[in-house]
Amino acid sequence: MKRKNIAAANWKMNTTVQEGVALMTELCAHDLDRDAQVVVCAPATHLYSLGQLSTPDHVATGGQNIYTKDSGAYTGEISCPMLLSTGATYAVVGHSERRAYFAETDEFLGQKAKAALSHGLTPIFCCGEGLEIRKAGNHVAHVMNQLKASFALLTKEEVAKLVIAYEPIWAIGTGETASPEQAQEMHAAIRTFLTQAYGEEIAQGISILYGGSVKPANAKEIFGQPDVDGGLVGGASLKADSFAAIVNSF
Ligand code: PEP
Repeated sequence: MKRKNIAAANWKMNTTVQEGVALMTELCAHDLDRDAQVVVCAPATHLYSLGQLSTPDHVATGGQNIYTKDSGAYTGEISCPMLLSTGATYAVVGHSERRAYFAETDEFLGQKAKAALSHGLTPIFCCGEGLEIRKAGNHVAHVMNQLKASFALLTKEEVAKLVIAYEPIWAIGTGETASPEQAQEMHAAIRTFLTQAYGEEIAQGISILYGGSVKPANAKEIFGQPDVDGGLVGGASLKADSFAAIVNSF
């Protein structure tokens, strides 16, 4: 099965609505590889405006976070139906910044992924280890434990619809990138786990993205690894030229 190549932008808490609209417009003015699925994960305040722009079919929008409930007294949270009503079709779940600053646990993130899937949103499910864990050589076990704990709540059919993003925390926003070999090692381990837990067909169909200081200069080599199906890109997605070059690196 041919997996989707995906280049996903994570703008984090950057840009005003007007700046975001200008950035998306500039990005879409580039000749973007039509075989790549492009996903722009923008602040929730921007998504409706981005959804109103005329963009190519292979450019989608996504939220950076969702809540598990559909509506109610949850001040400040954003539900899946709200996200969908903006035109967004993806949602980042479990970014390391949400795990670290907002104490989101593996189990809660499994609930978020389940909520997203129940509404037809595609979760970009993030996992990854910190520097201490990497230095101790426990990175593969750590990531497998994250996935096992979150995916315990999901059916096989639900897991099949996920996009997974491996993001070593030590490489996020630091300028330090995992080597192509380090990325491949983890992506292969994730795919082996998926094969053992859900079968070969499902494991081969799931796109696994790498995130952590991806830039035009390193994207081609990282995306060229057999189990790397694209990237989740923070800093370099805030400039249309550099993100377009990353999209065109498959
Ligand atoms: C991210 O925010 O998911 C990320 C990978 O950031 P950066 O590309 O800036 O390291």
